[in-house]
Amino acid sequence: MASETQTLTERVTLHLNQQQRQLLARSVEAGEAPTLAALVERAVNETASGALSTFPVPAVSGRPLRWRDDIEPADRTHRELLEEFVLQPGTGRAIEMKAGEILRIEQIDGAQCVDFNCFNLHDYREFFHTGRTRTLHGINPGAGDFLWSSPPRERAMMFLLDDTAHCNDVVFPRCSANLYESAYGYASHTNCADIQAEAQREYGLTPDDVHDSFNFFMNTAIVNGLPVIDRQSSVTGDSVELLAVMDVLAVPNVCGADIMKTSNFSIKPVKIERLRASDADLDRVPALTAYDTQRTVAQFRQPIIRSQRELTRDPDYVPRFTNAPIVYDAVEVEVDAATSGLLSELWRRELYSDRGDALRDVVFAWWAATHTP
Ligand SMILES: [Zn+2]
Repeated sequence: MASETQTLTERVTLHLNQQQRQLLARSVEAGEAPTLAALVERAVNETASGALSTFPVPAVSGRPLRWRDDIEPADRTHRELLEEFVLQPGTGRAIEMKAGEILRIEQIDGAQCVDFNCFNLHDYREFFHTGRTRTLHGINPGAGDFLWSSPPRERAMMFLLDDTAHCNDVVFPRCSANLYESAYGYASHTNCADIQAEAQREYGLTPDDVHDSFNFFMNTAIVNGLPVIDRQSSVTGDSVELLAVMDVLAVPNVCGADIMKTSNFSIKPVKIERLRASDADLDRVPALTAYDTQRTVAQFRQPIIRSQRELTRDPDYVPRFTNAPIVYDAVEVEVDAATSGLLSELWRRELYSDRGDALRDVVFAWWAATHTP
């Protein structure tokens, strides 16, 4: 009799940090449930019932669309360990690296996102650029890809030598204090923008000098045109290895997100090593063509970094835009009857009313398709 009325319960231990406890406490205070236990029950039940009207986010595969499985793991012998430390949750560090050195970021507990930025050590205005990197290597770069600097420099800064988890992102911006306040109601919360700013302050850089990061160990995809983050499956010992191809200030930080899927709802330390690359490591870096259009400060018409914040007009300014003014000329071409017939078929009449414009489209589209950059 007694056993029938007895309620079966299970005691589950939640491991929550102070930031996570704060969020749940606010839910209870707001009356979303009378107690933490009731809130937990509500979360479990509503999730299990399928009643949640969640944005339909299909599970991300855990492997990027463009995973390079043709790349051999790096040979880690013959490297010299120069420095080794643990990067604690909520922190980052600015690390000087010479060309030919490797930064190794290793999971200690697993599933920890690490945001990363780098600067040319001799000119901080040349910095890692997600846009160029994304254009050349896709949204989930991995081993065999480069970290590029922003236009007009556009040089390779670091080479991704090894990557065991195949779980990196260059779509999402760094998380910021305002994200946690506006979306979650935190007056203060660990965040990558502030952590990066605090770490690079050691080198005199301002919070405005933080740039969008390379997000290591972050599982993302584009679904229905929108970027989504999913949980990740990196484990203890998973690592990424970045070989500096120029002298850089490298700034890794443990991502501050503990209430998102990014690092599976927790923040954990990661291990950092700085090593001198072996000849075998250096041999893995593909040779790159150098271009004059990878501009240096010597090529700038205005090379001086401003020190005042207010913008004022230069009264002596005379614009000198490249190749301006743009002038269109009529260029006659004669094509045979067969070509002419084909052009009529290829004419994108929904776009062009002029036959010459239709031909221009055919010619340049063909050119782009037949010439690899
Ligand atoms: Zn973050």
